[in-house]
Parts: sequence; C-alpha cells; structure tokens
Amino acid sequence: MAAGNDDVNQARTGDENPSRTASLATAEEYPLGAPMDTLSAMPTAGEHHPAFEEYCECIYEMREDNAEIIQARLAERLNVSRASVSEMVKRMESAGLVRVNATNLQLAPAGEELATRIVRRHRLAERFLTDVIGLSWSTAHHEACKWEHIISDEVEVGLNRLLGNPSTCPHGNPIPGANSGSVMATTLENIAVGSRFTLVRIPEEVEERDGALEELESHQLFPGRECTLASRNGDSVRITVHGATDQNVALSPYVSSRLLVTP
Ligand SMILES: [Zn+2]
Ligand SMILES: [Zn+2]
Repeated sequence: MAAGNDDVNQARTGDENPSRTASLATAEEYPLGAPMDTLSAMPTAGEHHPAFEEYCECIYEMREDNAEIIQARLAERLNVSRASVSEMVKRMESAGLVRVNATNLQLAPAGEELATRIVRRHRLAERFLTDVIGLSWSTAHHEACKWEHIISDEVEVGLNRLLGNPSTCPHGNPIPGANSGSVMATTLENIAVGSRFTLVRIPEEVEERDGALEELESHQLFPGRECTLASRNGDSVRITVHGATDQNVALSPYVSSRLLVTP
C-alpha cells in the first residue's frame, strides 16, 4: 500500500504527534460526500484505505476495553471531530465494514477481519521494535501505528516466525490468532491496600495516552511484574514495584484506573 504509506509520512509532523492521528488526517483530506470509489487507493483486493483500518482497529480495541462503542467515544479516541466520524461511519457502513444499531457501532464480518489483521500487525510490530531493535515502549507503539498499515501477509508470517509466535504485545495485549488464553484480569480498584498483585495488561487506550508508556516503562512496570498496592487516597494510588530493589511509585489516576492486574 505504497500510496497510503506516503500519505502517512507526509502527514507526519516530526513531533510526538501519534501516527494514528497523522494517518487519519489523510482521510479527512478527501472531500466529504465523495463517492466510495474516489476513496479507493486500494491496489489489491482485500486492502483498505488506512483510515478505514484505523476506525476498525479502534472499534476492536474499544470492545476489548468493554467501552461503550458510540460515535462520540470513537471521536474522542481517534482525536477527530464528531462530523468526521459520522461521515466515515456512513462510508464504512456502505463498504460493509460496520453495522449501526441505534447509536451503537459494531464491526461487520469484513470489518472484524480487517481489524483483526491490523491489530495483529500492530502488536507483532511492537514486539519486533522493542525485543529485536530495542526501542522504547512509546516509540515502538508510535512506529507500530505506521507499520500496521504496510506489513504484507508474507512479512507478517516472517515476523511471527522470527519472534517465536508471541501471544501478546510488549504491553500484554493479546495478539489476535495467537491463542494467548484468557486471563481473568481486574482493575486496581478491586485490589485491597496491602495486597499483592501481578500486572497483566496495559490496555491500548493507555498506550495511546501521551506520557503513559514513558511513566510505566520508567518504573519497569512490565506485564508479569509483581507489585503491592501501598496506598489509595481518592484518585492517588501508590504501589510498590517488586524487583531486585523494591520501588515505591505514585501512579497517575489515568493509568491507575485502567491497568489490568490479577490478584
Ligand atoms: Zn500499541
Ligand atoms: Zn502494545
């Protein structure tokens, strides 16, 4: 998908602007109400414009987080206007990618297939970028937001083989199709002060949040890390991160309310 890739690169401003937003900007350049066929810079069957991929991916991740999937929430997560979302949802509905039930959005089978492919490529790319190249979590996530649109079937198979068929991204999010088994995870709200817990998953919504991955990585809060809930005072949560030396750290309310853990 060379055209899409160039668009993504051109739209990038060079700062830490998430590439999710950058690639969406290209879709917004299409005139509203343009017929579907003018949207299709689709070189081969089964490929879609990056914006369709972003929307399907976002709906998939919202479902993964048990979020309410309505246009207003989608606009917030994608950081675009409500009007753009409404326009794109119409296009995606006629392309057979989503279904709209009253105000709720659902992936249609074709959208599900597309989302699964993009999420899988994003998470495999992150594994490669952190485990093999040694990039920071935040950089790997932002790079993977671009890679997910250009990885071919062949490269995906090769990456998966090279990485030894990983079951999750570096942040613990399951790679679709990798049979990671389901873990009954909960939020820190359900952990009593003084109790131990294991961090299992940093949801994609947290990965998208500016500064959140830096915060977690700086505390070495990797999936599998054992911690103790040290204190909770309203929104302010402190935990002890167990390791060679225990560290007592304060978590930001945004992060502490979303991390998924097992008791
Ligand atoms: Zn990510
Ligand atoms: Zn990740």
